[in-house]
Amino acid sequence: MTSPEKRTPAGGPGRVGKASCGWEVYQSSPVDRLLSRLEGVKQTGPGRWLARCPAHQDCSPSLSIKQCDGGVILLHDFAGCGAADILAAVGLELRDLFPRDYGRHGSGPRPDWQRDRIQAALDHEDLILEIARADLAKGKTLSADDRSRALQARDRARVLRRKLHARH
Ligand SMILES: [Zn+2]
Repeated sequence: MTSPEKRTPAGGPGRVGKASCGWEVYQSSPVDRLLSRLEGVKQTGPGRWLARCPAHQDCSPSLSIKQCDGGVILLHDFAGCGAADILAAVGLELRDLFPRDYGRHGSGPRPDWQRDRIQAALDHEDLILEIARADLAKGKTLSADDRSRALQARDRARVLRRKLHARH
């Protein structure tokens, strides 16, 4: 006689446990919440997606989405829509780009929000640069706007990196 199979409650590794902190608990990660509301989503690499921007008439996907370490999501729209507008178009807010437990891991010192924000901004500028480089590598010509944004990103990234290291 075989022992009856144990039925484990539904819920995979993505499931969040108890909300002892009283914060709202989502079973899906912020990026899932965002991607499920966008159209034309295409994964371009680990933690990277392209989608049609919901904030303007986007025929070819021009919204780039990147999930960074720690679950923070960065958005960049090549038509120039701001992250707040993009999120508003799908009923989300900027804070939805951050995991609910962001900076609340472990019992270490208080999370350094300033540092996290600098890092997130730096990742964003790096992403813009990366996309510009990828376009150039594909033989595409950057528009004047994209080119000046890429140059701006390079300068901003330099400043941000300096700030980040000055804080150590
Ligand atoms: Zn847009």
